[in-house]
Amino acid sequence: MSKKTFTVGWLYPDLMNIYGDRGNILTLLKRAEWRDYDARLIELGRGTTRGMEDVDVFFFGGGQDREQALVYEDLLESKQPPLERAVAGGAAVLAVCGGYQLLGHYYQTADGDRFPGIGLIDVRTEGGKRRFIGDVVVDTDLADLHPQTLVGFENHSGRTYLGPKARPLGRVRMGFGNNGEDHTEGCLQGAILGTYLHGSLLPKNPHLADHLIRSALERRGVKDLAPLDDAAEIAAHQQILARAQR
Ligand code: GLN
Repeated sequence: MSKKTFTVGWLYPDLMNIYGDRGNILTLLKRAEWRDYDARLIELGRGTTRGMEDVDVFFFGGGQDREQALVYEDLLESKQPPLERAVAGGAAVLAVCGGYQLLGHYYQTADGDRFPGIGLIDVRTEGGKRRFIGDVVVDTDLADLHPQTLVGFENHSGRTYLGPKARPLGRVRMGFGNNGEDHTEGCLQGAILGTYLHGSLLPKNPHLADHLIRSALERRGVKDLAPLDDAAEIAAHQQILARAQR
């Protein structure tokens, strides 16, 4: 019998990949492999859409304004329809920072250039003069996350504001989050998760990796994933939480 497949689709791997974002890809693939899935990666650079219908989890990483300027047209022209179809069919999406911004309605730089996004999530982003840089600790209310905290690193000038269709991923205990004003971090809209957390996010938060894998595999009747030994990762996570309390 052939193994069950698990497919990760990486949007713009050559351009949208900073501060260790690639670690998110490795984590998703490894954690599926450890559950005996045949884990595959499809790279979705500019001009490519092949295989998007097979993707279980899409990853769209961060990039500075320069890289965002290079990808947003391709996103609108070639990726939007297949991405919308995949999401309607139950695929999950993780978008970090620059990728998060472009999945929303628009990203306007501090100089006033506006890059239209694809409006897959109800958020808009405006660049500010001050950059938000540093470690972040987030409290989420996702019931399947144990612990319910996320840790990471942020570096952005964009301020993201959520519309009524999106809800925050959590609230910042430490750090700036979406906009440095309302204490929210990231967004959730269906199976799409946007966040400012880099560093890499999923190796430091393996429980969030499983949340994404599980939500994508639900359409294939998967209810739960076999547990893995995350003692080292969770101990490191707790260490960061303890440091944030000092
Ligand atoms: N250019 C965006 C900003 O500074 C995204 C940065 C990033 O992806 N780290 O807000």
